[in-house]
Amino acid sequence: MAHTLLSCRNVSASVDEKPILHDVDLDVAAGEVHVLMGPNGAGKSTLGHVLMGDPTYELTSGTVLFDGDDITGLSPDKRSRTGLFLSFQAPVEIPGVPLRSFLRTMVDAHDIAMKNKEFKRRTKELAEALDMDTVYLDRELGVGFSGGEKKKVEMLQLLLLQPKLAILDETDSGLDVDALSIVSRGMELYRKECDGTLLIITHNTRILEQLHVDRTHVMVDGHMVAEGPASLIDEIDAQGFERYESLVADAR
Ligand code: ADP
Ligand code: MG
Repeated sequence: MAHTLLSCRNVSASVDEKPILHDVDLDVAAGEVHVLMGPNGAGKSTLGHVLMGDPTYELTSGTVLFDGDDITGLSPDKRSRTGLFLSFQAPVEIPGVPLRSFLRTMVDAHDIAMKNKEFKRRTKELAEALDMDTVYLDRELGVGFSGGEKKKVEMLQLLLLQPKLAILDETDSGLDVDALSIVSRGMELYRKECDGTLLIITHNTRILEQLHVDRTHVMVDGHMVAEGPASLIDEIDAQGFERYESLVADAR
C-alpha cells in the first residue's frame, strides 16, 4: 500500500471574510493520479492555492499534512521545497533573464544537487522530450514565447524539480490543442521518470487520455460532494454536474 502523501482535513478557507471552501477532506496516496472536477466557481483553484499556502486565502479551519508533516503554517516557498508544485507558479516574463539561468536559479533554490554539466544535459534532454527548440533555453524568459512555449517552460520546471506532488490547474487557461498535448506529454514524463503524484484540475478530459486515473473528486460550492473511480469522469462528461449541484442544494 502506498503511503498517504497529501491529507487535508476539514479545510475551510475565506477571501476577504467570504467563505469559499467548507470542511474539505482530500487524501492522495503517493504515486496516484487524482482528478478534481467541478463547475466554474466551485473553489477548485482556491483549493490549489490554499494547498500551496497562498496568503490571499485565510485558512479558517483544518489541517494539511504532506508526506507525514503538518504544513498548515508553512510559507509557499517552504511548501515548494518540501516537494509541492502548482502550475502557473512561474512569472510569465522576465526580460533580461535567459530561460536557462532562470531554471538554474530555481534548481539551486530547491537545494537540488546538480552540477552544471548535468544540468545542461538534463535541460537539453527534457527540452527535446517536450519538442521544445533548445534555442529557447538561451532566450529571455517568456519574452515573445507563444502560449505553447510557455506551457513547455512550465513542464520543464516540473520535470527538473521532480516534486512529490504536482497540482496542475488547467481549467481556465483556455488551452489550445498544442498546449493540451504538451501538458499531456509533460504529465506522462513526470509519471514515467519520477513516479510522480498528480492532482489535476481540469474540464479537459482529453488531457487525461494517456493517463491512468486512480481517483476522481467532485467539488461544488466549496464542498467535496463525491469521490469515485476514473469512470466518474466519463459520467460527468456525459451528464454534467447537475446531480451534484442538487446534492449541495439539498444539504442547505
Ligand atoms: P474554480 O477554480 O472552481 O472555478 P475558484 O476557486 O477560482 O473556482 O473560485 C471559487 C470562488 O471564490 C468564486 O466565487 C471566486 O469568485 C472566489 N474567489 C476565488 N479567489 C478569489 C480572490 N482572490 N478574491 C475574491 N474572490 C475569489
Ligand atoms: Mg479554477
